[in-house]
Amino acid sequence: MNKNLLKSAYSPEDFRKRGHQLINELADHLSDKLHGKSQKAIHWNLPEDELNFWKEFLRRGDDASLFSEITKRTTYVHHPHYIGHQVSPSAPITALSGMISSLLNNGMAVYEMGMSPSAIERVVTDILCKKIGYNADSRGFLTSGGTLANLTALLSARKAKVVQDVWNEGHSGQLGIMVSEEAHYCVDRAAKIMGLGEKGIIKIPATNDFEMDTSLLEKRYQQATEKGIRPFAIIGSAPSTATGVYDNLEVIGQFAQQHNLWFHVDGAHGGAAIFSEKYRYTVHGIELADSVVIDGHKMMMMPTITTALLMREGKYANATFSQKAEYLLTEADHEDWYNSGKRTFECTKTMMSIHWYTMFKVYGEGVFDEFVTQLYDMGRLFGDIIEKEPDFELAVAPVSNIVCFRFVDATLDTKALNKLNANIRQQLLEDGEFYIVQTKLRGIHYLRVTVMNPFTTEFHFKKLLGNIKGILENSRLTKR
Ligand SMILES: *Cc1c(COP(=O)(O)O)cnc(C)c1O
Repeated sequence: MNKNLLKSAYSPEDFRKRGHQLINELADHLSDKLHGKSQKAIHWNLPEDELNFWKEFLRRGDDASLFSEITKRTTYVHHPHYIGHQVSPSAPITALSGMISSLLNNGMAVYEMGMSPSAIERVVTDILCKKIGYNADSRGFLTSGGTLANLTALLSARKAKVVQDVWNEGHSGQLGIMVSEEAHYCVDRAAKIMGLGEKGIIKIPATNDFEMDTSLLEKRYQQATEKGIRPFAIIGSAPSTATGVYDNLEVIGQFAQQHNLWFHVDGAHGGAAIFSEKYRYTVHGIELADSVVIDGHKMMMMPTITTALLMREGKYANATFSQKAEYLLTEADHEDWYNSGKRTFECTKTMMSIHWYTMFKVYGEGVFDEFVTQLYDMGRLFGDIIEKEPDFELAVAPVSNIVCFRFVDATLDTKALNKLNANIRQQLLEDGEFYIVQTKLRGIHYLRVTVMNPFTTEFHFKKLLGNIKGILENSRLTKR
């Protein structure tokens, strides 16, 4: 055995040298990408080619170029032409807080394994609770992603609203949740994990504008109870992922109160609108929610993956995973907020709270107001541009930074148009100048844009449309 390997793996001087070099490289990457100095948002490669590259690199690559190769062979989320998935171009300072977390590696499950990040987590979740409009009994914690946070919230809901002790004794009787057909797929997944089955997912159809049709709530609730299903929670999307349209949280909240349902708001994407003076109205009624999810890595400029789960009655968070059914009554008076592992699905987690705190401390919450407002403004502007284009149409007028649109041609049927639009997106991907995504809504194939970079402007939108028209023109020429 060669003990020198350990010595070099832990060498502070090696760390210093590589660290300085990496910071320089990443700063160059940023200044190159942020304002679109380099042309492409992605250098597309086939999965097999990429796999072969990295197999070969492990054998013969130069480790001095390891980090720069990784950087090069990724999707440039900081590029203004990156308008695809809902991931933040992370604020560079959070790469530094991420480095602290990785190096100090305090596991957070108990207070002693992360004193500062535990206390800091309380500070930032208290700010979020206040911003939502919650009260002094409200508490939150951070966890690894919106998917896990939604599952955790629904587990809390079941513990709070269902009389039987499902946690210890399993299900007896059919439980259910009510949710829009447009909700993120992870809500379905959470329900399935919880053993609710297909029957327990009471799907509420959406309106033409892709918002939960709240006029159907009462009827669907009655139908479910007649079938012996006991609904215990209802979920509002703020907004739903595919279209970026917000459900009416106020109406859903009132319905939840009438029927003693837990009201959960999935604000993974747009919960951050609580910080936007201009767009706060989109989350009107959020203060009625029993629980709210907000992703830091989507609309709050933080690296993947960090999510806040906030609860109006903080005591329910302590009960979610507790063995004792009567936990709320016997131990609620001693609230050990500082032992995060009691409330999170994870045991060990990263020191994610320091990203949030760093942003609040260094830039203040105004930075989130600017970020959300700018991106939503740009989403709407792109919507206006599409509206004026005779050859394109919107799925719905955008209310956030998510825009679904497609090329249309009256001489082609839906199937042909679907194929054509899918083709446009594939060519954009392979070309790499722009990165956008796609979605199917009610059988229609749409191109989908999420404006995530605050420096993406009208200029870039027009360039994208120009490129799409170029693709269409080429396909016409090759058909002739
Ligand atoms: C992104 C998203 C999720 C999933 O969150 P992750 O952090 O990716 O796990 C859930 N719900 C909505 C509405 C989302 O936009």
